[in-house]
Formats: sequence, C-alpha cells, structure tokens
Amino acid sequence: MERIESFRINHLTLIPGLYVSRRDKCKDVDVTTFDLRITAPNREPVVDVPALHTIEHLGATFLRNSAQKENIVYFGPMGCRTGCYLVMFGKLTSEDVYPLVMEMLDFMIGFEGEIPGAKPEECGNYSEQNLNMAKFYAKKYKDALEKDKSLVYPD
Ligand SMILES: [Zn+2]
Repeated sequence: MERIESFRINHLTLIPGLYVSRRDKCKDVDVTTFDLRITAPNREPVVDVPALHTIEHLGATFLRNSAQKENIVYFGPMGCRTGCYLVMFGKLTSEDVYPLVMEMLDFMIGFEGEIPGAKPEECGNYSEQNLNMAKFYAKKYKDALEKDKSLVYPD
C-alpha cells in the first residue's frame, strides 16, 4: 500500500503550527484539511485525553456557530494526540483560517460553565472532560502561533 501524504511529513522537525495537511477535490467541491498541531511531535508530551475531548467539544461548538459554519466539514482530535484536524469546504490556505482558529482558541480560553454536549445522552464518554487542561493547551497553542506563525510545513 502507498504511504499516505500525512505520513511523509517529517514529524521530528514539526513544531506547533497551523498547516494545510491536504487538499481534496471531488467533482466541483474542494475540501481542505488543516493540521492544528498543538504540541511538538515526539519531543513534547501529547495532549491528555480528557483535555483533548474538551477541546473537541468546545471547538466543534464554536466552529459550527461561527460565521464560517457553512464551510465546516469536521473538527476533531488526531489519534497521536498532538493536535486536531479541521476540515473545511473550499481551496483554502492557513492564512485564510488563521483568524477563525485564533477566535476559536479565545473561545476555549475564556469558556466558563457547562461543557457543551457533555451529558450522557449527548456523548459516548461524557464524564471524560478537563476544562482547565483544555484551556491550558488552547493558551499554549495560541501563544505558539503568536510567537512563531508557522503556517507551512517545515522542509
Ligand atoms: Zn464527547
């Protein structure tokens, strides 16, 4: 089997950033997948599961209520737990979604109260959440993007 595109990126030089993971097209519909890399792969601790779960709930809620809601296909965690994927309609660049991602991080950092979708009838593992740690990672990621706007994969 062929080695898929995202496995060809050298994860040893990858730093936290907002990268285009892939662009796909089916008929006339363009779809862009973004790699929201929160931690440096294989060099920093991965995001813990409850925090990543909360990031998923807050991020999906924010994005699906945002001005861009019609263009959101999917938002969710990477299996390696070093970040999240954001899938959107359109042939987009990291610059295009940078303001939206920053707004989403501000939403997470400032979030108070009941985590959306975290009731037993709404989620498959409703009690596994950690709002404080989700905020910690959102802040860490936002700081990284502000310090070094990494928008293209390193060579
Ligand atoms: Zn859930």
